[in-house]
Formats: sequence, structure tokens, C-alpha cells
Amino acid sequence: MALYVHKYGGTSVGDIDRIKNVAERVHKARDRGEDVVVVVSAMSGETNKLVALAHAIQERPSPREMDVLLSTGEQVTIALLAMALEERGCPAVSYTGWQVRILSDASHTKARIEDIGTAEIRKDLDEGKVVVVAGFQGVTEEGDITTLGRGGSDTTAVALAAVLKADECLIFTDVDGVYTTDPRVEPRARKLDRITFEEMLEMASLGSKVLQIRSVEFAGKYNVPLRVLSSFEEGSGTLISYEEAGVEKALISGIAFNRDEAKLTVQGVPDRPGIASKILGPIAEANIEVDMIVQNVAEDQTTDFTFTVNRGEYKKAFEILENTCNDLGAKKVRGDEKIVKVSIVGVGMRSHAGIASKMFDALAKEGVNIRMISTSEIKISVVVDEKYLELAVRTLHDAFDLEQAH
Ligand code: ADP
Ligand code: ASP
Ligand code: MG
Repeated sequence: MALYVHKYGGTSVGDIDRIKNVAERVHKARDRGEDVVVVVSAMSGETNKLVALAHAIQERPSPREMDVLLSTGEQVTIALLAMALEERGCPAVSYTGWQVRILSDASHTKARIEDIGTAEIRKDLDEGKVVVVAGFQGVTEEGDITTLGRGGSDTTAVALAAVLKADECLIFTDVDGVYTTDPRVEPRARKLDRITFEEMLEMASLGSKVLQIRSVEFAGKYNVPLRVLSSFEEGSGTLISYEEAGVEKALISGIAFNRDEAKLTVQGVPDRPGIASKILGPIAEANIEVDMIVQNVAEDQTTDFTFTVNRGEYKKAFEILENTCNDLGAKKVRGDEKIVKVSIVGVGMRSHAGIASKMFDALAKEGVNIRMISTSEIKISVVVDEKYLELAVRTLHDAFDLEQAH
């Protein structure tokens, strides 16, 4: 029998009617003769509420207790969905992450799945039940509850699809597929019928929150057919798959952006070997991830060293840099929290020159000042002031003619 893993995100289970709507969809799939494992998120806004409750008590709560708290959101939805299915006469059973034994490492609030027990799920499916699993959570070998990072229910779904060898993993959400860019920023964005794992991974890494990065990594690694589609409307959504030989690839498949960036500069650093490691060493030791890095050409034997970090870690990074600055005899540390990163992504870029200059040209014509640039084989990213985000995205969408299918 065909087996599908369905995942429904927060908005799709946001109230009782929507939970009933999910139950109806799942029931229909059962009536078509499909086996279904459903992964659900917490009801929309719930996880944020739990985070706020914790922070109302402690500025830096213990990550272990944070996970005990955050995992409760999903426990509510699995029970409600199982009830809604039973109410329709569709046998169902719900499980938390630890009941399934979604075994993870112990890095609380961003744990990685290591193994999943399938015996129980298989048994329930064989008995004709729908299995409803809480997304976003796991358990360590020692029995501590973990969570998988924001958006982690996507990864629960893909991981389950991989171990159960499901025919497809269907990610139901509040948009009807993956678009050329976030339709909330560019209403003219176009839905893509297909996108490659490689491009989707790049889009997710560069800020497109439609799928958690790890879920795409996982799907690529275990070759899980993955589809993003609407929980409200019918449609075939977007299939994420490997590149097919012979299919002509669009130059640019999409535009991603990340609002969570901040920039730091150490000015007037004496220009000698070892500077980069002296500046970035303490940052890495504090577990702060660095994204783009630029070191200017030296003038008067001193240079400026600039890099970007996640906005949530800006203050911590700034404090560390001020100490380093003193040790190195640099002039001063400057920071900017109001920057964003905008990127164009496409595997077709590999074989084409001139994409970068087209991008810079388009932004220049609109008066968007580029503060930093970084490139790879299949993407070009620029850092711009936050106020230019929408303008930059729309300008590039237009310049590369993404509204039209190519
Ligand atoms: P869920 O709660 O179902 O997990 P998310 O909010 O995590 O939903 O993801 C869906 C949202 O992702 C959409 O509402 C959309 O605003 C946003 N998004 C960002 N980039 C894209 C894109 N390229 N295509 C589609 N949606 C995108
Ligand atoms: N509820 C979690 C979050 O809001 C996980 C998820 O929705 O995927 O991040
Ligand atoms: Mg999500």
C-alpha cells in the first residue's frame, strides 16, 4: 500500500476548524487506500508564546528546561487531531517524539535526529490506524526531551518519510508551493512546479523559511521525494527533486532574503598575519556563527575587518570584539543591526557569466547601496540596508524576469 507522510504547519492547525479540515484531508487519503503518518506543528503562535513565557522568568533559561516547555505545543495538536480523526470514524493514535523514540543528540533547542523507531508505527498502520506524530521534538539516549530548532517539524516529517521509505513526504502549509520569492514580499512571485534539492537547500540556507534547512538536507541525502503544497486548496504544489538531465534550467530560480543579519567591523586593525584568526577565534569559541567576511586592502599598515552574524548574537559578538580590539591595538568596533541579506539562486548560473553585473546594475538603478557581496557557484548575495529589502527583492525579481516561466 502506498505510504505518505503528511506535515501540517502552525497556520494549518491554527484553530479547531482547521484541525477538522486537516482531519478531513487525512481521512480522504485513507479512503483512497493510502497509509498515512501525520506530523503536526503547534497551533500558530503557540511556540512564540511559550518562548515569551520562559523569557518573562529568565533571560537565559536552561536549554533543557526550554525544551521541556517548547515540546508541549505540539503535544496539544497531536491529541486534538487524533480526536478529530476518531470523531470522523477514522481510527487514529497520537505519539509524542519520545513515545516514537525519535532519538536525537543532546544539543538542546537545536538537536539533530539520530535514529527513529518504526516498529510501533508499522504495527499501527497495519491495524488500519492513522499515526499522528508530534513534530519538532526528540529524546536523548538519557531520556531528556529535545527540540529540533524553529521550523523543525519539517525535519521530523522528512526523517519519518526516510525511515519508513514513504512514497512521498507532503509538506502542507499556508502557501500552495515554493515561489520564486516570498509572495508576502513580492505578490508577483510565481509558483514553481519543480525545484532541485540543491536550489531549495540554497534558498533555505539564505533565509527562505518555507522549509527548514535540515529537512531539505535530509531529503537530499536519503532521496525522499518532497512536495510543498497548500493545506487549504487542492493542487500539485512544488516537487523538490534531483536535477533531471536534458531539462533546460532557468538561469535564476529564486530570490531569498534574510532579515536576521547584523554587521560588525573592527576598524584600524594592524595588518599582520594572523589577524583573521585573532578576531574570529573568540567569536567561534562563543559559538557564534559568522556568515560573510570582508577584509579591506591595507592603508598605512592598518585594515578594516568586517563580518556578519545572526542578529540575535549581535550584542554578544560586539562585546567580544571590544575586548579583542583592545588586545590587538585596533582603533574601534562599529556595528550595524539594520542590514539584511538578499540573494539570487540558480543552478543555471554556473554556466553563465554576467549575472552578477546584471544584479548590481539593477540595484544601482534603484539607488540601492550594496554594503557587502559574496558569491558561490549557484548564488550571489548582497548585504543592503534593511529599508531597501522590499525594493531590492522586487527590483531583482523584475530584472531577472522571474514572473515569467522560461
Ligand atoms: P508552516 O507554519 O506551515 O511551517 P511557514 O511559515 O514555516 O509555514 O512557511 C510558509 C511561509 O514561508 C509562507 O507563508 C511564506 O510567507 C514563506 N516563504 C518564504 N519564502 C518563500 C518562497 N520562496 N515560497 C513560498 N513561501 C515562502
Ligand atoms: N512549532 C515549532 C516552531 O514554531 C516547530 C514548527 O512549527 O515546525 O518553530
Ligand atoms: Mg515552517
